[in-house]
Amino acid sequence: MPGPKLNKHDLKIKENSWLAKIAALKLGTNSVAMVLGKTIHLHNTTKAAFLKDESWVKHEFCHIRQFKQHGYVGFIVKYLWESIQKGYYNNRFEVEARKAEEL
Ligand SMILES: [Zn+2]
Repeated sequence: MPGPKLNKHDLKIKENSWLAKIAALKLGTNSVAMVLGKTIHLHNTTKAAFLKDESWVKHEFCHIRQFKQHGYVGFIVKYLWESIQKGYYNNRFEVEARKAEEL
């Protein structure tokens, strides 16, 4: 997806995030990274391990761009709406983020 380039200064990473823990429980997964605005919330992984995983970083960077594009509240509303309509996996923001992993 085209968009503003991001670098590590544009983001914050929060380890042991309770929000990411809730997401992990809801998704039934072990390790979770979840973006809110410019912050990547991590559960059950470290900042170092996350940053080493290039495709994972690209995926979450895509969500940061989506937040920028749609605005904080706008993105959350659209994201939840997509998830209700299509489910997590087919949510267009997740489809786009998975494509970004390959770039
Ligand atoms: Zn995602």
